[in-house]
Amino acid sequence: MGFLAGRADLHTHTNASDGSQTPSEVVRAAADLGLSAVAITDHDTVAGLEEALEQGRKSGVVVVPGVEINTEQGGHEIHILGYYVDRHAPELAAKLQWLRGGRERRAARIVARLREIGVTISLDHVMELAAGAAVGRPHVARALAEAGWVRNMAEAFDQFIGLGAPAYVPREWLSPTEAADVILAAGGAPVLAHPGTAGDAGDLIPRLLEHGLVGIEVFYPEHGEEAERLFRRIAEENGLIMTGGSDSHGSGFAFRSGLGQRTCPFETVTLLEAAARKGRVTRAARAARAAGGAGAAGGATRDDRP
Ligand code: AMP
Ligand code: FE
Ligand code: FE
Ligand code: ZN
Repeated sequence: MGFLAGRADLHTHTNASDGSQTPSEVVRAAADLGLSAVAITDHDTVAGLEEALEQGRKSGVVVVPGVEINTEQGGHEIHILGYYVDRHAPELAAKLQWLRGGRERRAARIVARLREIGVTISLDHVMELAAGAAVGRPHVARALAEAGWVRNMAEAFDQFIGLGAPAYVPREWLSPTEAADVILAAGGAPVLAHPGTAGDAGDLIPRLLEHGLVGIEVFYPEHGEEAERLFRRIAEENGLIMTGGSDSHGSGFAFRSGLGQRTCPFETVTLLEAAARKGRVTRAARAARAAGGAGAAGGATRDDRP
């Protein structure tokens, strides 16, 4: 313990989505590693945040509330992180619920497609493994492994459910800019996740900048030195906050990396919090102007009346 003091892992998953550990377990593990801060960024849900924040207070770790929204643009999968979202915001809750509904419909279609090619697993088993969390392909992969169709998660994605595999089913998505809008409306700070895995997404960053993008995930397990240099430069050119994290999904998931294996300085947390606050102030001022503006116009009309 100790060498991660002053460091923050700003990308982790819990069993509220497709991670294997409870929010408390993730936060306690972060404390054990000596991390100063950990962000909980589950896919399409904020259900793990309450418990994580509570555990953060007990363990003396700063817990950054977050969410990761998977989006699609031109055949590229683009993930948008949202930090400091208001987890009680009704509009956010409604959008996330719609996304999770799409996840359930997709899981059913994947299971049906698998059956068509002679690979039988039950949807009930998949939903049981998800246990009320935002269901995803990792839960299907686990069901495939438990039924003996594959040896591990990677094989499940390669042979059956990954992009280009026979039981791949696209999902209902938001676009990247829609996800940024949803995060902003919930008082959060939108950050482009692991751009190195998004492929060449053209004018993505300029368009996201128009939708309030404040940061870009530079430090990431799958970003090599060259990618890191590129995204660092993009961040500097556009005044974006450089974030980083492990994308840990907990033990038993070989995918991505372990907690704390990718981090950024603790100051990043302060920058994200300030950016989210600034966004909220700007939105409030704009709303007030819109309301006040209408009143003033009405007044002017009255004044002008002969
Ligand atoms: P979904 O959200 O249902 O589209 O599933 C995507 C999730 O599957 C990612 O967030 C990862 O957690 C996981 N995943 C994607 N590719 C792989 C892979 N090759 N092996 C294991 N897990 C994967
Ligand atoms: Fe995941
Ligand atoms: Fe992601
Ligand atoms: Zn992630």
